[in-house]
Amino acid sequence: MAAAVTDKGRKRPSNEDAYGLSIEHGAYLVCDGMGGAAAGEIASALAVEEAMRVLTARLSDESASPRMAAEEAVFAANEAIFGRAQRNPRLAGMGTTLVGLLVRERRLWVVNIGDSRCYRLRNRSLQQLTDDHSLVEEQVRMGRMTHSEALRSPLRNVITRALGTQNSVTPDIIELEAEPGDLYMLCSDGLTRELNDDLIESLLGLDLPVESLCARLVNAAKKAGGHDNITCLLVRAEG
Ligand code: CA
Repeated sequence: MAAAVTDKGRKRPSNEDAYGLSIEHGAYLVCDGMGGAAAGEIASALAVEEAMRVLTARLSDESASPRMAAEEAVFAANEAIFGRAQRNPRLAGMGTTLVGLLVRERRLWVVNIGDSRCYRLRNRSLQQLTDDHSLVEEQVRMGRMTHSEALRSPLRNVITRALGTQNSVTPDIIELEAEPGDLYMLCSDGLTRELNDDLIESLLGLDLPVESLCARLVNAAKKAGGHDNITCLLVRAEG
């Protein structure tokens, strides 16, 4: 079971987030674009389109490696965005985050570039599975900044890895084993900046279908301020 909701929030004029999902292929993506004018929207839409095109083609073959499919999808999406930006000066510097989840039976692959996130709720306990590629989170991991300093830092929007801004990029890829009933969430920072982990954990623990949970989380982030675009994609492992 899987569902997704995206919303432009209450302050931004447009939605630069995008998502893709194919339950049939076990491929799920959330992208959060950046760049002036319409560039952010173009970058995230291109990333989802290119990455889903490669993933659905590769994953139709059950003997194909999901890890290699993920690497190929990231490569293709990066080329598409970087190439478009090179050809059109108005799009120069555009890029996007990408967080993805690939599912094959009980095996999972989490793919990450940037500061969108993947979380898992297991036995009512929430865990963030991805590391943010952001300046402040890198400082936190090195012990040079506290978590609360990171949340308030004027540099909190600076990401250190993005799709499409350079001619190559390496994603983090984590391989995991799912347990029945696990709930996986892919989201943009418009959700996690408004809602703390305790609140996310309690909302995800509600006994509701994934469609309703997505709507609740996005509405909670809007009520909390909705300063940025908000995207929530949920995948529940079959029991
Ligand atoms: Ca964002």
